Amino acid sequence: MYEVKTPAVYIHERALSEPTCSRRVDRLMHGIESARPTEVVDDARLDEAAEEHGWSEMVGLRTGEIARPGDPIILLNTFRWLEDEEWARLHEAYPRLRHYYLSGNGAWTFRNGEATLRTQSGVCTNAYELHAAWGCLHNCDYCNVPDLLNIMVNLEELVARFQELVEGNRWLKLWKFDNHTDTITLEPEYEASELMVDLFSRQDDQYLMMYTKSANVDHLLELDHRGKTIVCWSLAPDTQSRLIEKNAATCSERIEAARKCQEAAYTVRARLSPIVPVRGWQAEADAMLSDLLGKVFPDVITIDTLKWTEPTRVWRMFDKSLWDDEYAGYVDQYAAMPPQERPYPILPNGKQLFPHEARVRMYGLLVERLPKSGRSSPIRSG
Ligand code: SF4
Repeated sequence: MYEVKTPAVYIHERALSEPTCSRRVDRLMHGIESARPTEVVDDARLDEAAEEHGWSEMVGLRTGEIARPGDPIILLNTFRWLEDEEWARLHEAYPRLRHYYLSGNGAWTFRNGEATLRTQSGVCTNAYELHAAWGCLHNCDYCNVPDLLNIMVNLEELVARFQELVEGNRWLKLWKFDNHTDTITLEPEYEASELMVDLFSRQDDQYLMMYTKSANVDHLLELDHRGKTIVCWSLAPDTQSRLIEKNAATCSERIEAARKCQEAAYTVRARLSPIVPVRGWQAEADAMLSDLLGKVFPDVITIDTLKWTEPTRVWRMFDKSLWDDEYAGYVDQYAAMPPQERPYPILPNGKQLFPHEARVRMYGLLVERLPKSGRSSPIRSG
């Protein structure tokens, strides 16, 4: 796992109540250095800690707005499964535990694609999304992870629950793990990869998709995945990968990690998402695609620009000096307008940050470069 230097570590007492959990806690703690003594907490003390660190105030902020100075505070915790009335009582007693799975809620979420279609001008499919943590050792300016990494350690119980969910929903073929974190950064100590890859290796026609911006993939190479795990890299050109996706692997390191996984017979995918238009992004994207397609054959490439971002908050999240002048100009133009007067599809009158023509040009330029490899991958707009 990555070396972690954090201001504080909390361990929920539930995380020490089972031998499998406490062994996982021990393994993870070997890689974690804390500035102050580790504290074992119950719900009441965790609620106080949430107040002390202002975690509730971080809800809705982007990671760049929080301006996290280094690695996040670590919490080792467990998921639990309660009745609705029990959740209501718990959250009434400890209201700050509603967020970021602090109370042990939220092991999976259902994305209602039909509702998305009605309200967000897009086309989505219904899907469950599987979770194991909220927070990240990476520090991407556009993300919504707080100054906290809440890691669930009861993975054996969680994976047994996932198995019931997967077997009860055979209609869903692709299962995403995990869009609130990057669990691969915690491996091999965490063992989520091993357990999840094993779970899906036993399914007939259902597939696991693991997301990452990491190059920490050696633990994946020997796993018996039986072709049922897809590893999907979010890729960004060099400047974005280093200066906006802080602490993540560089662009070339991610591509090399994808190559290794492809060699180990995993299906690999690439998400060019979100594209942040920095100065010189065109030449950098060209270099990234040449490197990618020279080494890896992604079965799908997804392309998407930065969106769902309120223009008046963009310069609190990003260093403007990195940005391409044309795209920075759109941000300034829309930030100066009353929100309801912004043109469609700019937020809040759609979900975009850049106008249609500018996005089409960006997509066109990227797609134009793809066939140079002499191979073709299906391309989707995100
Ligand atoms: S790697 Fe993903 S989860 Fe982690 S900070 Fe970046 S966008 Fe967020």
